[in-house]
Order: sequence, then structure tokens, then C-alpha cells
Amino acid sequence: MKRITILGSTGSIGTQTLDVVRQNPDISVIALAAGRNIRKLEEQVREFHPRIVAVWNPEDAKRLRAQLSDVNVYVASGMEGLVEAATHMDVDIVVGAIVGMIGIVPTIEAIRAGKDIALANKETLVTAGHIIMPLAEEKKVRLLPVDSEHSAIFQCLNGENQKRIEKILLTCSGGPFRGYTAERLKNVTVEDALKNPNWSMGRKITIDSATLVNKGLEVIEACWLFGVKPKDVEVVVQPKSIIHSAVQFEDGAIIAQLGAPDMRLPIQYALTYPDRRPMETRRLDLFDIERITFEKPDTETFRGIPMAISAMEQGGSMPTIFNAANEMAVERFLERRISFLEIYEIIEDCMASVKMVEKPSLQEILEAEKAVSEHIRSRWDQTYPEA
Ligand code: NDP
Repeated sequence: MKRITILGSTGSIGTQTLDVVRQNPDISVIALAAGRNIRKLEEQVREFHPRIVAVWNPEDAKRLRAQLSDVNVYVASGMEGLVEAATHMDVDIVVGAIVGMIGIVPTIEAIRAGKDIALANKETLVTAGHIIMPLAEEKKVRLLPVDSEHSAIFQCLNGENQKRIEKILLTCSGGPFRGYTAERLKNVTVEDALKNPNWSMGRKITIDSATLVNKGLEVIEACWLFGVKPKDVEVVVQPKSIIHSAVQFEDGAIIAQLGAPDMRLPIQYALTYPDRRPMETRRLDLFDIERITFEKPDTETFRGIPMAISAMEQGGSMPTIFNAANEMAVERFLERRISFLEIYEIIEDCMASVKMVEKPSLQEILEAEKAVSEHIRSRWDQTYPEA
């Protein structure tokens, strides 16, 4: 039996993880945690019978407790609840499917408690990779990537010597605005940006895919997971998302992982690793594909990748500043308070204005996030209307 916690069980990755659980009777759910969607959480509790369930808001916890009064489940709330769910003594592996930097503390606590981590929540690794990677090594826990690109790289490295990587070929769909000029991007709407060509994902990552900030975050994530530098990661636009990523080795060989776009595959691989289990998902028919095309990303118009690389190269708390600024800018874009291109402006401004700290502790990471929030509130929030 593999016993799991899902942090972010009501989201896109969370619900697909529960689909994988449905197909694998030897995976059992010990804990679930989510933000505000207590209706879905109640359904999940009734179907999967976790022992503990955590929601963010104490008022929501009270309501959920009342709704579940006929069920034997402990309902917790806040950061304490997330940590309880992540560190429950009977859990083997924690699926980090929460969105944003809120995932840092429960992930670190889960590692401290010796839990393996199936990691989708890239913001955690981007901001706290320098704490998480050595801690995982010390505690001998496995960090199993769920992000499709990183799972692909992980699969390509199976049985290989990681030291022999020449470069990582990180594929990218290009997002819904591939080929747009900056002029054309001025007036794109939230609805336009939410139309990802290949993947159905949560709202925040879908916007990140449109700005290519997601790809920038993934470059940083790849550096931490596979011990490479940003210069060793080449982003390749492959619009149909058939190749999920590839690794080029020192002898020139390229190994790639291909498949139909379905997040349940990397989720299941992380949960059953090193086993590769059967899965009912669409098969790729190579004769249907006809051709696979590749392009370089337009990093002048879509500045997400160069900004992320600059943040990683500056190091310290700069990736946190980059990430926190993006999280807040995307929130404001989704609330229709800023335009698409202002997302870049806000990130650039924060990276230039918020003070950077070398080798930040966890506390300093959280303080950097707060400093970004204060900067955006004082400099930007005055200039546009309230949501
Ligand atoms: P969603 O927005 O669909 O889901 C986010 C989840 O986080 C929800 O369950 C939400 O709960 C929960 N959550 C948000 N805030 C809190 C909080 N304060 N406390 C507890 N739970 C909270 O996001 P995705 O599933 O798309 O993405 C999750 C992570 O996985 C992101 O980091 C993303 O970058 C990464 N990822 C996603 C992929 C995808 O295909 N979706 C692919 C690769 C990586 P609620 O809805 O109840 O408020």
C-alpha cells in the first residue's frame, strides 16, 4: 500500500491525482488539503476517506466540520493544517499540488518528516531550492517531478549518469499567443490568455504559460532538480506538446519522452516510481502526427524566460522576488486590474526595486515575498482601480 497526502486536492493536478488513485487500488489517501472549495473537498472526503482534511480558512473548516459530522475525519485549518496533512505519521508520499509559494512550508516540513515528495508546485523549488535540495539529500527523501517536462527529463535520465548531461531540451508549447507581436499583446483579454492550446490547467499556470513565465520557472526548477546551470537548459518551442522534453548527453545522443498530453501519466509515474504501471490514456499514433516542428522562443516579446534566468543567476532572494511579483501580477491580471503586458512591467520593477538578500533563510524568503507585496501595493495598486 502507498499512502499519500495531496496538498491542493481540489485543483487541476489534485483532481487528476485522485483519478490516478481511482485506477490504483493500492494507493490510499491519508490526508487532503485545499483552499476554498469545500464543496469539492467534502465530495472527495466521502469518496476517498482520508483521516485528515485541511482547509485554509478557519471559518471554512468550521463549515466543513459541520457538513462532515457523520464522517470520521479530523478537519484542520491554516498553515498548521497544511503541515499536519503533510507530515502525518502514516504518509509515505506527499503530492505538492498547491499553487504558489504557500507550498514552501508544508513541503519543507514534509521533507523534514522523511516523506517523499511528488512535486508539481514549482514555485516552492524556484524560491527555496537552495534549502529543499540539500534537506532532501540529508533526509534521503525522493523529489519526484510531476511537471510534465521535468518528469520527461527524469524519465530520460533513468539509468543514465546525470553528470553526462550536455544540455536539457525543455519543450514549450509557446502558449496561446505564440507569434504575436508586443503591439498585438496590448489588448489581449483574460479569456484569450486562459486558452492554452494543449493543456487544461489551473488559472495561474495557464496565464504563466501565456507569458512564458511558466517556462522561466521551469528552467529554474530544472536547474535545481537536475543539477545544471541555466546555460545548460535550452527552451525549444514544440507547439503540439508531443515531445515533453529531452536530454542531450555528452556523446551527442538525445533521449526524449513523447506521449499524448495527459498529466495523469507523470502523476502516476511519480507515485509508482520506479514501477511503470499500465494506464488507460490516449495513445500517440505517430502516423497521425505527420510532422513535429521546432522553433526558438520569442524572448524579446515574451520576457518570462530571460527574466527567470536573470533571477536565477543573481541568486539569493531574487528568484523569490521574481516569483512573488509574478504571482501578484497574475492575480491582478485575472481580476482585470492590469493588462497582460503589465505583468512583465510589475515583475521587472520588483526585481529592480526590492532589496535582494544572499542565501535567504526560510524566514527571509517569506519576508522577501512580503516586501514584494508591499512594493506592489504602494507603487502599483494606487494606479489602477480596485477589483
Ligand atoms: P489549481 O489552481 O487548479 O489548484 C490549486 C490548488 O491549490 C487548489 O486545490 C487550491 O484549493 C489549492 N490552494 C490554493 N491556495 C491554497 C491555500 N492557501 N491553502 C491550501 N490550498 C490552497 O492549480 P494547478 O493544479 O493547475 O497547479 C498546482 C501546481 O502545480 C502549480 O504550482 C502549478 O504550477 C503546478 N503544475 C500544474 C500543472 C497542471 O497541468 N495543472 C502542470 C505542471 C505543474 P481551492 O481550489 O480549494 O481554493
